Amino acid sequence: MRALSKKAHKYHHQSITQMPSTPVHSSFANPIFLLILRFIMSELATLNIMYLPGVGPHRAELLKQELRIVSYEDLIYYFPYKYIDRSRIYTIREIDGSMQNIQLKGKITDLRTIGEGRAKRMTATFSDATGSVELVWFKGLKFVKGSLNADHTYILFGKPSVFNGSINIVHPDIEPYEEGKPRIEAGLQAHYNTTEKMKNKFLNSKAIHKLLHTLFINYKGKIPETLPAYLIERHKLMILDEALRTVHFPKDNQTLEKARFRLKLEELFYIQLNILKLKNQRTAYTKGHIFGKIGDYFHHFYNEHLPFQLTNAQKRVIREMRHDMGSGHQMNRLLQGDVGSGKTLAALMVMLIALDNNFQACMMAPTEILATQHYVTIRQMVEPLGIKVSLLTGSTKKKERQIIDQELRNGTLQILIGTHALIEDTVVFNSLGLVIIDEQHRFGVEQRARLWKKNAQPPHVLVMTATPIPRTLAMTVYGDLDVSVIDELPPGRKPIQTVHYFHNRRNQLNRFLRQEIDKGRQIYVVYPLIDESEKMDFKNLSEGYEYMKKAFPDNEVTMVHGRMKPADKDAAMAEFASGKAQILVATTVIEVGVNVPNASVMVIESAERFGLSQLHQLRGRVGRGAEQSYCILMTDYKLAEETRKRMEIMVRTNDGFEIAEADMKMRGPGDLEGTQQSGLPFELKIANLSRDSRLLQVGRQMAEEVLKNDPLLEKQENFVLSKQLKKLARQKINWSMIS
Ligand code: ADP
Ligand code: MG
Repeated sequence: MRALSKKAHKYHHQSITQMPSTPVHSSFANPIFLLILRFIMSELATLNIMYLPGVGPHRAELLKQELRIVSYEDLIYYFPYKYIDRSRIYTIREIDGSMQNIQLKGKITDLRTIGEGRAKRMTATFSDATGSVELVWFKGLKFVKGSLNADHTYILFGKPSVFNGSINIVHPDIEPYEEGKPRIEAGLQAHYNTTEKMKNKFLNSKAIHKLLHTLFINYKGKIPETLPAYLIERHKLMILDEALRTVHFPKDNQTLEKARFRLKLEELFYIQLNILKLKNQRTAYTKGHIFGKIGDYFHHFYNEHLPFQLTNAQKRVIREMRHDMGSGHQMNRLLQGDVGSGKTLAALMVMLIALDNNFQACMMAPTEILATQHYVTIRQMVEPLGIKVSLLTGSTKKKERQIIDQELRNGTLQILIGTHALIEDTVVFNSLGLVIIDEQHRFGVEQRARLWKKNAQPPHVLVMTATPIPRTLAMTVYGDLDVSVIDELPPGRKPIQTVHYFHNRRNQLNRFLRQEIDKGRQIYVVYPLIDESEKMDFKNLSEGYEYMKKAFPDNEVTMVHGRMKPADKDAAMAEFASGKAQILVATTVIEVGVNVPNASVMVIESAERFGLSQLHQLRGRVGRGAEQSYCILMTDYKLAEETRKRMEIMVRTNDGFEIAEADMKMRGPGDLEGTQQSGLPFELKIANLSRDSRLLQVGRQMAEEVLKNDPLLEKQENFVLSKQLKKLARQKINWSMIS
């Protein structure tokens, strides 16, 4: 969180001493004052780091390149990743080789160079009143020699270890001690991440710390407050100026905790404020088409063409959406449901409601394979009702495309299914009432937003995802969407059995696969080919294909991957879907959405190369019929600890939410699959979504509390909030049109 507002600052002082909700002083309306205000406000953000003493053009360039630090403000918001306690100075008598880093105070004598060539090193004796230890250096000998002085008292910091029965300290941190002069490295000492490149230029953690020290000494003013005073008072928060100084130079653990609390809470609060305010805006300004009736299409389908009984969860979510679409507000709903829970059917039923009200509907899927599959299933189901459905993808032929365009415009085409191709400006609807986005995490924010704009009055929007998102993350990323959950699988499904094999059990695996094929089942074999241009991976895939053909000479083996022409892909998929081929060797192009209920085995080759969510998605391709299904994770024998854990989790549970939580814990939310694109609205600099979920709740409540009194942040007491939001939003644009 940045933004430093003088206005807030002044306001803060007023109301800290007066009443919390005192209105801002009227001089703020004065144009000259505003001008000055703007100048002061932007001060920290516009002060170029290059001019901070100790930086200069070279270091400034390095800071910019490596850490994106350009201004004073950027540096202030570059938070430490850990603290080491340097408040205590030990005596030499107290220390032993089992201790972590400790501090000593004393004098250095007997500095000498010993050994030759690679064994060359430097030693010295460090003594205080209670004894002495040996210091050792292997690197930077010249520097050490030049900088140490036998008369001086030093503070030393390092890890004691025992060597040949006596204590020594290798490469200690040394700093001259001067009576009465405040030390930079006293108390809890902040440590900063720096890169190799920076370290090579002596811009290490300590140097960053020093720069901050200089900055705070040079910057005389108080850092302007970014929260209104009434919130600070009500929640007993540390003021911003103190919090920022404290995180870099904490006096003690207690104050540090208070400072970190304030900064984390602020970050999480602003995320929630942003989302909830947008929601308010939307409901205030955006009217929704009213789908007032459930008509013939819906009833006819429900009574005569429904392929199976809906699960209770499916019925519930359809009811929820029906309610939204009849309310006069625009629907913005996220439909979550684990893989195989039957989201497509629920989506189809809501499309029928749109059609019943004389609107068109469209459905966008992230891959051509998936779009085609949806098209085939949906057309099958609704053609008997006389509904016109078309498919539009990048490979739709020009002539076909012309017909689609024409029918879309005159309204005879009622349902359009497709890929990104739907987004293009040339796709114009007659009356688009409902947009459905399948596997929404696959789409960028911009792409979704463009669909949203396809009608003068925005259509209802339903986004669907099988990627289970941990609650905390859902709150931050999709906090303004209403959420429906299909938490029940269609009846008769048996939980998928997952096993982890090392490559040496391939013969056993093949025997098992043969058994399954003999029972009439089909098999997926997936190779990691995440980037379709990786040559090595491609070789593995084609070799895998050849191997399977040889190992299963009596069966039909087919293959799909991203480099194939769309028509060939379709043909290969069709061969598998129809049951003509028993084995499909594929890349992750089949990861999402693909539905072949007769396939009962998913073999994942080099499973160590996939993330947890991806493994779960892939596994979700089986277990879609009534048969017992299996997922086999093949890996090398030698595995990293983390990888072993991933495999264990997959074997242990089928629960997508549990897997998502584990994934977030192991990799951190920024890296969570399926959220890279939608991402967070703002970069988190200090809070952590998996560790600070309780704080997120507090932040959410705080945002609700503010917006309850001032839904669009128009009151003067909240000026600082709307200004800060604008500033933050500038860092990431337009993420919020849809979700
Ligand atoms: P996902 O939620 O992963 O998109 P799908 O919509 O592809 O799941 O549905 C998975 C499978 O379950 C499909 O074969 C679909 O026909 C079937 N299915 C959906 N709803 C039901 C139901 N109520 N009863 C039985 N099978 C169903
Ligand atoms: Mg699906």
